[in-house]
Amino acid sequence: MTEGLFGPPDGTPRLNAARPAPERAALLAWVYGLLRAEYGERPLIPRREPMHELVSTILSQRTTHQDEEAAYQELLTLGGWDDIIQAPTGAVAHAIRRSNYPESKAPRIQATLRAIREQRGGYDLDFLAELPVGDALKWLTDLPGVGVKTASLVLLFNYARPVFPVDTHVHRINTRVGTIPRMGEQAAHRALLGLLPPDPPHLYELHVNLLRHGQRVCTWTRPKCPACVLRDRCDAHALYGNNVPSFSEKPGKG
Ligand code: SF4
Repeated sequence: MTEGLFGPPDGTPRLNAARPAPERAALLAWVYGLLRAEYGERPLIPRREPMHELVSTILSQRTTHQDEEAAYQELLTLGGWDDIIQAPTGAVAHAIRRSNYPESKAPRIQATLRAIREQRGGYDLDFLAELPVGDALKWLTDLPGVGVKTASLVLLFNYARPVFPVDTHVHRINTRVGTIPRMGEQAAHRALLGLLPPDPPHLYELHVNLLRHGQRVCTWTRPKCPACVLRDRCDAHALYGNNVPSFSEKPGKG
């Protein structure tokens, strides 16, 4: 175990996750700096159009990036968003079959598109840039197929709003390191945002570097701790050494 597990005054074991918020905020700032040194600076530039981001994020749940992109491209063969709303749900599910759970995602996508069209008269989401951030999050998460992760991704990536998307990688690494106690992905959005500066480029860079670290090093099963730059202050490594167990989490609304 590292010295970091033992805190004053009585020397009893004390995990990062049990520390006060300011200490965990400092730990998260340390994580940010090390991942930046490891993976480099990542400027906040939208990677795709807002509706593309929204629909692709729904498709991405429990799905590799390659399959998500294939599903999105085949979805577009059905036509525009209006055509996708009107298509038989089975045809939408077939088009997105490269994504996991196509039968549940197809009606979610159609319901989301329908709700956007009914409320906005089209599919332009740029009004979200002007809304107070809490109202923008609420508008998106009130859509039938959109959870807080998807909403946060669209608001941060496309509109540089100060929110912090928590995907499976962000959740897993922060839980293992102990910047947050064990909690679900949805609760982790609020918990982590409370530890971070309200600075969109910082939030974006931390998100994408955690994603990269989760794909390459702190993987769901058999994390590569000997190669990890975070191991000196990681709760899971302190407890389990180089045999950190597989991470368990429950699927939720993306
Ligand atoms: S030390 Fe291991 S468990 Fe901790 S963050 Fe690194 S890879 Fe993950």
